[in-house]
Amino acid sequence: MHELSLTQNILNIALKNAGAKKLLQVNLLIGELSDEREESIRFYWDDLAKGTLAQGTKLHFQYVDAEMKCLECDTVFHPKEEIIICPACQSHRLKLISGDDVKIESIDVE
Ligand SMILES: [Zn+2]
Repeated sequence: MHELSLTQNILNIALKNAGAKKLLQVNLLIGELSDEREESIRFYWDDLAKGTLAQGTKLHFQYVDAEMKCLECDTVFHPKEEIIICPACQSHRLKLISGDDVKIESIDVE
C-alpha cells in the first residue's frame, strides 16, 4: 500500500515537471535500505500511468548507499554490519541520514 502512494507521488512530480511533454524516462535513486521494491514500483507505475503522458515511460533505478550519522561525534559513515555502531567512537546513538527512501534524480522528456 505504501508503494502505491509512493509511486503515485513520483508519477505526479514527474508529470508536473514534464509539463505537457511526453515523459520518456524517469531516473530514480533508491536507497539500499529502502523497503520499496523496484518490481512493485514498476507494477504500480504501469497501472497508474495508463492514459497519462507517462504511459510507456521507462523507469531507471540507481541504487545509492545508505549513510548514517553518529549523534555523539558527527561522523558520517556507510553502515555495513548488521549491528551498527559508530566507527569513530563506538556509539549506538546513530541516525540514518540517507539510503532509506526513493527519490527522482531526473526526468527525460520528448
Ligand atoms: Zn561517533
